[in-house]
This record gives sequence, C-alpha cells and structure tokens, in this order.
Amino acid sequence: MSELSELYQQVILDHNKKPRNFRKLETANHSAEGYNPLCGDQLTVYLKLEDQAVKDVTFEGSGCAISKAAASMMTQALKGKNKQEAEKLFTEFHRMVTGELDEEKTPNDLGNLKIFAGVREFPVRVKCATLAWHTMHAALNNQELVSTE
Ligand code: ZN
Repeated sequence: MSELSELYQQVILDHNKKPRNFRKLETANHSAEGYNPLCGDQLTVYLKLEDQAVKDVTFEGSGCAISKAAASMMTQALKGKNKQEAEKLFTEFHRMVTGELDEEKTPNDLGNLKIFAGVREFPVRVKCATLAWHTMHAALNNQELVSTE
C-alpha cells in the first residue's frame, strides 16, 4: 500500500498504545459522553474552557484503535484553540472523513489530522474516527450525551 497508509497505521497504533491526554480532567467545566453502537466505542470528553478558549482537554473510555487514536490526536489539536477554531476543526475533520472536503485541494487547518483521510474508504470506520469529535462538539455546546446512531 501507499506510504500514507503506512504512516496512518503507525500513527494509529502509536496513539492506541499510548493515548495522549487519556485521563479524567478534574477541573473540567464541560464534558460529554459519546457512544458508537456500531463498533462499541464509548468515551467521555472533558473540556476546560476559559474565556472561550480550550485551556485543557482530555478523554477516557474504551474502543477500537481508530476511535482511541482519533480522540488522542483531537486532544492534541484542540489545546489552546478558541471555541470557534475548535468548531471549525470539527467541521473540517468531519467533512474530510466523509469525503466532502479534499484536504489536499481545499485550504484547512487539519495539519497531521489529515492522516485520517483514508478512513473515508471504510464507511463503518468513519463513525469511529468522528466519535470523539462529535462528543467534543456536544461538550462545547453543553449537551451531555451523543450517540452516532
Ligand atoms: Zn470503532
């Protein structure tokens, strides 16, 4: 397979084995739970918002390698962003993995999140990759529970 898919596999495996920001955030002022019944992925996203900016973001839960890696990389991408930037990234990520956004042609802020572009070829996996993002989006907007069903 291509180099990109090799990179993709390495990154996913690494984040699955050592998820970043994988803990409950005691100082969180926003949180939500997400569930993907298709795969059984279940996670909680914790956010600490201060002056509309993401001061800290963590997650915990269990699920497949893709859902965990996506959540792990999401927390890295969101730290320091403001609410508007976080929502924009959510939209871009969602559009990329559903094939609506060509990450190579359309300017975007996805950075290393682009490795998830390959997920669009596996529709069942799209929900795994977006679960953390939907959950973060819900937490930002003070909803408490998301199901991707
Ligand atoms: Zn999954």
